[in-house]
Amino acid sequence: MIMQNLVAPDHAVTISGLEKRFTRRQSSEVSLAVDDVGFTVPRGSFFTLLGPSGCGKTTTLRCLAGLESADRGEISMNGKSVFSAQARRDVAPEDRPIAMVPQSYGIWPHMKVYDNAAFPLRYGRKTCSRAEARTRVHAMLDQVGLAEYADRWSTQLSGGQQQRLALARALLCEPEVLLLDEPLSNLDAKLRAQLRAELRSFQQKFGVTTLYVTHDQGEALAMSDTIVVMNRGRIEQIGSPAEIYDSPASRFVADFVGSANLVPGVVDGVRGADNVVEVKTSVGILRCGRSATPPAPPTAGREVHVCIRPEHVRVVTEVPAAGEPNRFPARITSTEYLGDRREVVVAVDDVSLRAHADAHLRAGPGDEVGVLLDPEWTVALWS
Ligand code: ATP
Repeated sequence: MIMQNLVAPDHAVTISGLEKRFTRRQSSEVSLAVDDVGFTVPRGSFFTLLGPSGCGKTTTLRCLAGLESADRGEISMNGKSVFSAQARRDVAPEDRPIAMVPQSYGIWPHMKVYDNAAFPLRYGRKTCSRAEARTRVHAMLDQVGLAEYADRWSTQLSGGQQQRLALARALLCEPEVLLLDEPLSNLDAKLRAQLRAELRSFQQKFGVTTLYVTHDQGEALAMSDTIVVMNRGRIEQIGSPAEIYDSPASRFVADFVGSANLVPGVVDGVRGADNVVEVKTSVGILRCGRSATPPAPPTAGREVHVCIRPEHVRVVTEVPAAGEPNRFPARITSTEYLGDRREVVVAVDDVSLRAHADAHLRAGPGDEVGVLLDPEWTVALWS
């Protein structure tokens, strides 16, 4: 797909038809790291690229930053084209309205905190007088909670403080778009949880459009306005965190984001005004109140998967009669007490389902129970 004269004033970034190939040195084998990627990033939003290692997130971000040249496609920022493979336009990184915080923060160890933060105001795109720089740097260090560390060597900062310093320096560039590549991955779990909330609140305070790369689905769900799920260089789904979690578009998304029971089956029919998809599975008929738009009208017999999250599988002690959609007799295989709930694995014939049950469920391994799969949260997946 080729777009010329991209003008999208509501969008800070527009990418279309982006493709990037790498040639492996030893084997001369060509791999497609980014394959026909396209999306628009609304101004002021927190926009996350999520996917497993090697899916092309960083390469997409580096193409945006101008650190990689794509083989095909178009990139515009603020309605101005910064890259066009067809027009052979490739604006230099320093001339793009961005600031990037790499995974390693890019903080200079031989400089003090103040000098690290002040660097872009001395040598960057938007320089200013020493006096103005001093005021702005101190104000920014104050905002990110580093005011009292200005005279310390940057190596004397903790991991979380270094991350804040990197963010302060990036924000002092006054970028239109902030690019963050797994900025929390070097920190321990507790600090990550604390800093993700901080990062999100800084982003909202400064209103800066942010493109965030992570392989951590928890981070993506907690921080983003929009998530792009990538797999093998391609986009699997774009949506809000709730859309991605509650209505995954593919097996990959259902499995990668959150935990999912996936049951194979074939379409039995599509019923009612709500287009409820009924799927014949080895345990019986499953009614799916949700489904992504099918690639073609879903004809009976088409192979699909049904996704149901453990929190939407109810375990009850009354055993239902067989034959009713979404209600099945089952046997408990294992239970795990987690304080606020019990994680239960049940066997419905040859299918194992994970469920979140009441912590005080009066049933254990080997007991006959019933499982109810809420049709409202049962999703038919076409791919
Ligand atoms: P990670 O989370 O591990 O950083 P990622 O999703 O960001 O992964 P990329 O770093 O974009 O993935 O890599 C995508 C693919 O491109 C991978 O197969 C990677 O090996 C390959 N790749 C990336 N950079 C290069 C390069 N400079 N030369 C050759 N192959 C590369």
